[in-house]
Amino acid sequence: MSVIYAVFDQLSDGVQVIDPEWRYVYVNDVVAEQGQTTRDALLGRTMMEAYPGIEETKMFAALEECRTTGQPIRTTNDFTFPDGSKRYFQLRVSPLRDGRLVVFSTDITEETAHRVLMENDEAELERVVEKRTAQLSQQNRELQQFTAVVSHDLRAPLRTIRSFVDLIHQDYALGLDARGREYLGWILEGTTRMQRVLEALLIHSHIGSTREAKVVDLNETLLCVERDLDFQLQDADATLTVRRLPEVCGYEDELRLLFQNLVTNALKYRKPGKPVRIEVDAKPTDDGGLHVMVRDDGQGIDGRYHGRIFNLFERLHEDDAAGLGIGLAHCEKIVGLHSGRIWVESTPGEGSTFHFTLGEPIRSAQAATRARSA
Ligand code: ADP
Repeated sequence: MSVIYAVFDQLSDGVQVIDPEWRYVYVNDVVAEQGQTTRDALLGRTMMEAYPGIEETKMFAALEECRTTGQPIRTTNDFTFPDGSKRYFQLRVSPLRDGRLVVFSTDITEETAHRVLMENDEAELERVVEKRTAQLSQQNRELQQFTAVVSHDLRAPLRTIRSFVDLIHQDYALGLDARGREYLGWILEGTTRMQRVLEALLIHSHIGSTREAKVVDLNETLLCVERDLDFQLQDADATLTVRRLPEVCGYEDELRLLFQNLVTNALKYRKPGKPVRIEVDAKPTDDGGLHVMVRDDGQGIDGRYHGRIFNLFERLHEDDAAGLGIGLAHCEKIVGLHSGRIWVESTPGEGSTFHFTLGEPIRSAQAATRARSA
């Protein structure tokens, strides 16, 4: 046995040999170190003398089982030392024919702590995600209720107000003095604007709520936008250059609204008296999505506002005719619907480039054609 002990002395695992009376007949230095003691303090003593209370541990139960069954056992055990510190060990217990047991032990405290930490992190992350999901569902419900209020409770009375203001304007405007007509004009203007805001809010809350995603050819989307904005494009003496775009999986109407808003803005915020040049370009992203750029040579946007312009009702131009401050909020919601993000790069006086990504996988033209003809 002494030859074997000499080998055990060299092992980096802990090795201990225990006789039928639970006495340590051999321990190597590693075991002494793992047990925060010395070889001399263990040799010749029983396990219970060396570590009072050890009979209650999982390790001792494994040793007893091994002795009873005569079968080797693998297990893990955590051990709390008198100073309160805790360490984890992986144990392999083998019975010898003469009733002695050989126990190999590896300290796995670091790995276990790491795993426990990761499990805790995962559990914490799950809790946060659950909480956030519940909050989002609640917010979604509130938005739905808000939509109902907007569509039924506000639109209908506003329409009534509008009709009667129109009637007053039609039938009584001539009987009013200048100040009365001016007030009436403001009421008309206010109600018109309020109607536009309600319509825009309805569009915003309906984005992505009903339709299914499908294969969308962005070249066709841009052609539709060009057709719809034909008059405004001509009026602004604008050139819209569209590089060849791929097909994507997405929401057709929403993608059209996205491009329409960006091109409309390029026209709205152009440099007065100058023809407008708008370019649409795209390139694949590393993760299989698409990065689209809509570039204009208009007024540009001060860097201080680059983050804010995507908020609802955020406008930098106070001119009411210019807009409501909802178009880019639509864009952000649509891009979010496609698991992407939107941002702007712009220099005042030089123009703006609106960038957005579409996270949905791009379908190659060939794959999309096959899918359509199938
Ligand atoms: P609006 O209805 O006011 O156009 P948007 O949400 O579309 O609302 O845009 C928010 C603000 O961002 C606009 O009021 C405008 O000041 C600025 N903006 C948007 N697009 C452009 C652009 N292409 N060039 C310059 N400014 C822009």
